[in-house]
Amino acid sequence: MVSLSNSISKGLLHSPELREYMLQTFVYPREPEFLKEIRLITSNHPRCLIETAPEAGQLIALLLKLTNPKKTIEIGVFTGYPLVLTALTIPDDCKIIAIDLDRDAYEMELPIIKKAYIEHKINFIKSSALSALDELLNEVSKRIFDFAFIDTDRVSYQKYHERLLELVKVGGIIVYDNTLWFGTVAMPEECVKETMKPNRQHIIEFNKFLASDTHVKISQVPIGDGITICWQL
Ligand code: CA
Repeated sequence: MVSLSNSISKGLLHSPELREYMLQTFVYPREPEFLKEIRLITSNHPRCLIETAPEAGQLIALLLKLTNPKKTIEIGVFTGYPLVLTALTIPDDCKIIAIDLDRDAYEMELPIIKKAYIEHKINFIKSSALSALDELLNEVSKRIFDFAFIDTDRVSYQKYHERLLELVKVGGIIVYDNTLWFGTVAMPEECVKETMKPNRQHIIEFNKFLASDTHVKISQVPIGDGITICWQL
């Protein structure tokens, strides 16, 4: 039987050197210049830790290529690394609906979006995610999206998921970011910083819910801060 300490020492999340090797070998050499620019700008942002990790971005780009979507939705834009990555990866006639309450962070990346000639693919909606999703459910026919990426208020992940099951096509992909919450999901509560505790609890509950959801096939990928890939059945 593998002991807990052995399994932890093998984990990518606990080996900064291995992560750096992975980034330098596979990710950075292939990272488009526009994304590199965003990553460097975001690295000075006070909330930079919540931005999607570049190695997770590389996997998302691969999923996008494999699914060849016509319509995607992104909930939580922040400074736009996954948004620009999606817009650079999808075909020219594919559209992204991007929802976030904070337009300022998106505006930071707008010059890069314009420079990359991808603005026409993006429909940015300044709104809370739940109201935007409810509006979409009322206004458009169901199951219009091929791909969804969710990276915002962890407290509502389950509510987003319930709505996305209605909005994403059967065979479509839904990806959640930060589902290992800096590794705190597996730490004893007393070892977790107070500021991390609320989202840790939301993520633990969401992960438990998702693990038993029979509407999707799932894969939990321990790269970046953990992404969970769902394939809608
Ligand atoms: Ca994130």
